[in-house]
Amino acid sequence: MTTEATTTDVTRVLDLIDQLVRAHDPNGDRHEFMRAQFDMGLAWVHFPEGRGGLGLAPNLQNVIDERLDQLTPHRPRVFDILGHGMGAPMLVAHGSEAQLDRYLRPMFTGEEVWCQLFSEPNAGSDVAGLATRAIQDGEEWIVNGQKVWTTAAQLAKWGMVVTRTDPDLPKHKGMTYFLMDMEAEGVEVRPIRQITGEGEFNEVYMTDVRIPDSNRIGGRGDGWRVALTTLMNERVAIGARVAPRNSGAIADLLEVWDSTGRPADRRDEVMRLWVAAEAARLTNQRAAENRKAGTPGPEGSTAKLVFAELNKKIYELATDLMGPEGMLYDSYSFTVPDPNEEASTDVRRRFLRARANSIEGGTSEIMKNILGEQVLRLPGEPRVDKDVAWSDIPRS
Ligand SMILES: Cc1cc2nc3c(=O)[nH]c(=O)nc-3n(C[C@H](O)[C@H](O)[C@H](O)COP(=O)(O)OP(=O)(O)OC[C@H]3O[C@@H](n4cnc5c(N)ncnc54)[C@H](O)[C@@H]3O)c2cc1C
Repeated sequence: MTTEATTTDVTRVLDLIDQLVRAHDPNGDRHEFMRAQFDMGLAWVHFPEGRGGLGLAPNLQNVIDERLDQLTPHRPRVFDILGHGMGAPMLVAHGSEAQLDRYLRPMFTGEEVWCQLFSEPNAGSDVAGLATRAIQDGEEWIVNGQKVWTTAAQLAKWGMVVTRTDPDLPKHKGMTYFLMDMEAEGVEVRPIRQITGEGEFNEVYMTDVRIPDSNRIGGRGDGWRVALTTLMNERVAIGARVAPRNSGAIADLLEVWDSTGRPADRRDEVMRLWVAAEAARLTNQRAAENRKAGTPGPEGSTAKLVFAELNKKIYELATDLMGPEGMLYDSYSFTVPDPNEEASTDVRRRFLRARANSIEGGTSEIMKNILGEQVLRLPGEPRVDKDVAWSDIPRS
């Protein structure tokens, strides 16, 4: 595994992209083009060869994506943050060879959507307190419990599910992680309508669902370790994307600013947010350049915190500048966003959706706790239940 991209590596990937685009029609069958991209190692360039990568430096992926954007602006894309951003790096870190063979390619192409079954009605920020039970029965596990806020569960083929397998151990030690077939008997998905009107997330009920032991990721009792890898990658996937200058939320604000006649008395507010967005973008770029392959550290939590809080402020100002127009969000039909399609770009929808940014993937308060403890080395929160058997912890 290389950690820094050399000129030879850049030339190599650019040559491969030319071959890919010459041999496969980017506007033809969406899966065919992406299968070829995966097979050439251009999916996740830092992954091992044969697993969608070439074992090269992670920051080369930006070179690949930018070049593909130039050559094939209308090529198929997959917006499966749960699979691409979280499931794939989790599998590479903890999956068996057979699991990598089975799951990575159809996930990359969007043929199999993934979802994340972590949160429960009584376990969100404190996800290690979860209660979904898995009991071993020969070569299978029988799972019972309820998850909530499960994004894309109604479209997913595979769910990353964390379960309680040893209730007599302290909460972090008695969990095991599985991939659950969302089409298996006993899995019931009930959509929840959110503030945008869409049904992006769901409740998921599991009643005597049988999961083969071959779908266990990591050892029995390793669930917390595997879950942490997933969560660390989730924060990077949400907040640490390296975008071009003046793109994303700040581009929306500039567009609204232009279309509302650039009111002089609001210039300062726009400028302050532009500077903050640019500082965040450059920080993410620096972090990406230094990123080594492997599980990200607390820089993901910094990026996620800044992204969430900034996004809310940007869309608040944008809708405020729009005046009464900003309140006329007319898309309250119940739809289920497809991770293979980009979501609506309506600024008013984005304003409403941004409220979720400081909750999903860990709330802003939890990000601050992580940064306080792991980066600033402040005293930790009292954790009175840390060494107590999960089954002895009082709960409602
Ligand atoms: C759009 C969206 C999509 C989501 N998708 C998924 C998904 O696909 N899969 C999944 O598993 N989950 C998903 N979630 C759930 C998300 O991870 C949880 O909502 C989040 O972790 C918070 O948990 P909670 O809702 O139970 O709130 P709680 O943990 O009950 O928190 C309530 C409030 O208390 C604060 N708080 C809690 N503990 C502390 C503390 N120790 N210190 C300071 N403040 C604290 C929180 O910051 C928050 O303000 C999604 C959420 C949203 C909004």
